[in-house]
Amino acid sequence: MYKAKAYSAASATSPLTSTRIERRDPTEHDVQIEILFCGICHSDLHTVRNEWSSVMPTVYPCVPGHEIVGRIAKVGSAVTKFKPGDLAAVGCMVDSDGTCPQCQEGLEQFCPKMTLTYNSPDKHLGGVTYGGYSESVVVDERFVLRVPSNLDIAGAAPLLCAGITTYSPMRRFGVTKGKKVGVVGLGGLGHMGVKFARAFGAHVAVFTTSPGKKEDAFRLGADEVVLSRNADEMRKHAGSFDFILDAVSADHDINAYLNLLRRDGNLTLVGAPEKPLAVSAFGLLFGRRSLSGSIIGGIPETQEMLDFCGAHNITADVEVIPIQKVNEAYERLLQSDVKYRFSIDMASLKSK
Ligand code: NAP
Ligand code: ZN
Repeated sequence: MYKAKAYSAASATSPLTSTRIERRDPTEHDVQIEILFCGICHSDLHTVRNEWSSVMPTVYPCVPGHEIVGRIAKVGSAVTKFKPGDLAAVGCMVDSDGTCPQCQEGLEQFCPKMTLTYNSPDKHLGGVTYGGYSESVVVDERFVLRVPSNLDIAGAAPLLCAGITTYSPMRRFGVTKGKKVGVVGLGGLGHMGVKFARAFGAHVAVFTTSPGKKEDAFRLGADEVVLSRNADEMRKHAGSFDFILDAVSADHDINAYLNLLRRDGNLTLVGAPEKPLAVSAFGLLFGRRSLSGSIIGGIPETQEMLDFCGAHNITADVEVIPIQKVNEAYERLLQSDVKYRFSIDMASLKSK
């Protein structure tokens, strides 16, 4: 075992502060990664503040972070995919059983024994796993991704969660040329959703509560921008969408969006608000519409998404911050004041 610098929260009401955590020495299938950048996902905030206590209670201290890009420092004797010096990335998962039907289909996110990057039982060290707000991490090579060399690494880090979470349902629901697609909430996930829907050739509308984001939405690839608190603007789109991706982190009225779907249209929730959302049956019955959920993506699809981003030069729009600004960044996330992902420069951890 070795000690690594990190930032952790001691309770649901504590700020994140500097600490040292234990990491295992790499076993034969592991790689040790020196972390260069880690994105800040709203899930980090939900977890640190124990907002998902009914489903996944937080164990403290909590070290969040699951949008990790870094350089391989060491590899175990049986590692074949990576060598020291390679760029590598880790997303929301670090392990699974590898044998169940889900894993065999490359859908590790649904494996009953899947280990999340943080706040999941750590089968090596006991306690829970610690995430990417740290100088290094040790991960089984099966869960380590390759980063296309042409991508800016600060902007590539958020692809590991915000990227795959929006890419996967859009692929599954056939977002392509000729489809009208909506993205609700222009935050970290939402802005990646806009970029992918655009790259897939769809007609893209952004729904936002923030009038100040309108110009950015067009720049990011939207064909239309709808201020969702304006009922007249919303009404104009009734019954017209093939697919809507809802990436909102807080309570909101999803019925307003169900009514915008055409017959057989689908609304996929990727946002995970703390409290249950109310669904009116009629929004689904009329039009035979469907409501689904989606969570990240499997390892093969995550690599496919990274390679797609390499080919199309897609990264997140990031505001790079030092780790010392992480608590401020969380407050800004709560104000929807992020353009459009915070990416922590982990060199700042060394300076402390
Ligand atoms: P984020 O960057 O904070 O963006 C959320 C956006 O939602 C905001 O920028 C805002 O967009 C909108 N919003 C916030 N409060 C709202 C309210 N009260 N009413 C309406 N709109 C509101 O968050 P994120 O990192 O993209 O994550 C979004 C959600 O997805 C979180 O709940 C997160 O936990 C979840 N998530 C799920 C998965 C998965 O696998 N399913 C993966 C990652 C994250 P506007 O300013 O444009 O309105
Ligand atoms: Zn995330």
